Amino acid sequence: PISGFVETMQTLALQEKEHHRVLELMKQQTSRMESLVSDLLLLATLEGSPKPAIAQWVPLGPLLQSAVSDGQHLSVGQHDLLCGVAPEQELELAVEEREMASALGNLVSNAVRYTPAGGRIELQANLRADGYLELKVIDNGIGIERHHLPRITQRFYRVDKSRSRATGGTGLGLAIVKHAITRYGGELLVDSTPGEGSCFTLTLPPARVRVVGTELLSSPGFMPSSPS
Ligand code: ATP
Ligand code: MG
Repeated sequence: PISGFVETMQTLALQEKEHHRVLELMKQQTSRMESLVSDLLLLATLEGSPKPAIAQWVPLGPLLQSAVSDGQHLSVGQHDLLCGVAPEQELELAVEEREMASALGNLVSNAVRYTPAGGRIELQANLRADGYLELKVIDNGIGIERHHLPRITQRFYRVDKSRSRATGGTGLGLAIVKHAITRYGGELLVDSTPGEGSCFTLTLPPARVRVVGTELLSSPGFMPSSPS
């Protein structure tokens, strides 16, 4: 497409205004190509790299907060964004902060883009009884038909090509999220009903979740025993 624009500019004598418009379109195309390339590189990196070590602990609160504020930024006031954390304790995660932030950001940006104005998007964190952490991004948007669900985490898969083109996606977002969370021994789960909304859940295994301050306690039960 860019080469087409270049050709147009080379062969046609464009008016000032048309000239401007063609440059604007070229700029859009270029930035789409840039994000496509960087998404593909990220996916390739994730695929080739080993399970991240349990090296640093990242507080959950700020991660959720920044995902909410990213969502608000994208929504420009058209959606209600809420954040609920079930456990009273503060939690920390053994994850790569940038990677986890981008996974959550991806889910939130989908929720915003696939939920009509006036809709509601909620982030939830829930520490399950079995020690797994669940992070949920719930929207009451357009939803996804059941038969698409097994495929939407595949690279380049989009439910509705024309719709996705209008919202500017490449179909790599969920594939990246899935790879990132799987590397930590977690999962990406999707539940959705057309016309009612969607719920995307990230799970993290117990070894990668801790309650803040427990390293000061003698109770070994809280300590991650081995990476998972
Ligand atoms: P990209 O994230 O690469 O910019 P994308 O959003 O189209 O593009 P994915 O994030 O991988 O790609 O999502 C794949 C498809 O799943 C989307 O095109 C959309 O059809 C559907 N989808 C994802 N999230 C939602 C949601 N919250 N509600 C409804 N449909 C969704
Ligand atoms: Mg997306």
